[in-house]
Amino acid sequence: MVAYFSMAIGIDKRIPTYSGGLGILAGDTMLSAADLEIPLIGVTLIHHKGYFKQRLREDGTQEELPDEWNPDDVMELLPHRVSVGIGSEKILIGVWKYEVEGISGFKVPIYFLDTNLFKNSPENREITHYLYGGDKRYRLKQEIVLGVGGVRILKELGIGETIYHMNESHSALIIHELLKKISINDIKNRCLFTIHTPIPAGHDKFDSNLVKEVLPEWKGELDMTRLAFDGSGYVNGVSKRHRDVSRQMFKRDDINGITNGIHSVRWTSREFIFLYDRFMPGWREESALLKGAERIPASLIWSSHIEAKKRLLKFVKSDFNIDTFTIGFARRFVGYKRADLIMSNPERFRRLGDIQIIFSGKAHPQDTEGKKIIKRVIDAAKNFKGEVKVTYLENYNIKIAKLLTQGVDLWLNNPEPPLEACGTSGMKAAHNGIPSLSTLDGWWLEGCKEGVTGWSLDDDGANIYDKLEKEILPLFYNNKEKWIEIMKNTISMNASYFNTHRMIHEYNKIYKKMESNLRPI
Ligand SMILES: *Cc1c(COP(=O)(O)O)cnc(C)c1O
Repeated sequence: MVAYFSMAIGIDKRIPTYSGGLGILAGDTMLSAADLEIPLIGVTLIHHKGYFKQRLREDGTQEELPDEWNPDDVMELLPHRVSVGIGSEKILIGVWKYEVEGISGFKVPIYFLDTNLFKNSPENREITHYLYGGDKRYRLKQEIVLGVGGVRILKELGIGETIYHMNESHSALIIHELLKKISINDIKNRCLFTIHTPIPAGHDKFDSNLVKEVLPEWKGELDMTRLAFDGSGYVNGVSKRHRDVSRQMFKRDDINGITNGIHSVRWTSREFIFLYDRFMPGWREESALLKGAERIPASLIWSSHIEAKKRLLKFVKSDFNIDTFTIGFARRFVGYKRADLIMSNPERFRRLGDIQIIFSGKAHPQDTEGKKIIKRVIDAAKNFKGEVKVTYLENYNIKIAKLLTQGVDLWLNNPEPPLEACGTSGMKAAHNGIPSLSTLDGWWLEGCKEGVTGWSLDDDGANIYDKLEKEILPLFYNNKEKWIEIMKNTISMNASYFNTHRMIHEYNKIYKKMESNLRPI
């Protein structure tokens, strides 16, 4: 058995406990484990108020509202309870169970930990309210609940013997908890750690004063990434590039690379699902069969795409045109992803001609730069009115991500290399026959075949106008046959590989190896 710990798991549109790629990846991982009958057990926090619901004011200012939801509607509260010490207090933790059912009926559980219990103080009841809300103290408490509480809950549920897979270092206190019973070598034989970002702010560190108050048994500063490294027998980054970048960053040569994927059925439009069922039966169990996409007639590829595009434009509800080349850009708004790069040269942007662009994405509540970029996009949408159609969809979430990655003509991605560890939304687009235009970073270094599966941008993105003017737009408007050829390639070359079925098979090899070396606790 493998316990998969993640601060966020985006599994169901009714459960808003994710903020972006990390949580969605965790959800897709659980879905693939269920389909492939790999006994994974998810552990996460309940986050009663979600991440946040985004509203934009007229002037482009982001407002953050609680994203309330009711766990009772979608999961079951179990009677089990454990407690953890935080400072001098004892905090009680309850647990909810959600089951993910795979294609054959095999089920994998996800346990959502909850401190919102009557016996806890009002302050402590809020520990599991907000994903990424609050200050450092709040975060450390959450990480104690996840790591220490998670190990204890599993034991209470009768699941003591497991491998621990840490999806990012938020749960690294697993190691601290296990050290009370087994040696560091035995811990290494059962822990693996997937690191997710080369951005230093993405690596939690807690200073010694705070640690002394909240986790007095720990001495000195608490560096979660370092702890996860020290207690894991296997460490990996989430693409080949990210493996290399992490090796440099942490000065270790034992970091591996397992490239992320997405769950194929979840992110494919109903029209393309219909085609895949017909022309590549068995693809639901074996995403690699998508290699056979050249068997699909071009006319069906195009008509299926147009249906998904219509659905998107109906949702957009503005004056967007079905025949116009439509670019999608949606992900977290954060500086390095450079959402407004395509509008950085207004003159050349105007001259691109017949295009329309749809943006979507939240900025972290404390990320002033990300918020400024949203404002700039909203301003631009107004400035270009009557010239280029630009729109922004509020409150990016799973539903909007599906509409966009299924319905645009081109998926744009221009992060500043080497900061994108992997990126997954371009993989969603590829499953729907949509090529990417992207800087060569993260997964695109592995997925880009120039002019075959999409196009690359220079690191600074300066050639974005040339690529669009000289290659992409002429092809789309004047050579549909070649365009549809490229659409097929995205499916046969990229969707067939960049999926979580392939990814979980790679992890499963490591799980199996660890399991065979396990010494009972
Ligand atoms: C897929 C997805 C993401 C991640 O997108 P990246 O391309 O990896 O940045 C973020 N948010 C939502 C809602 C998604 O579905």
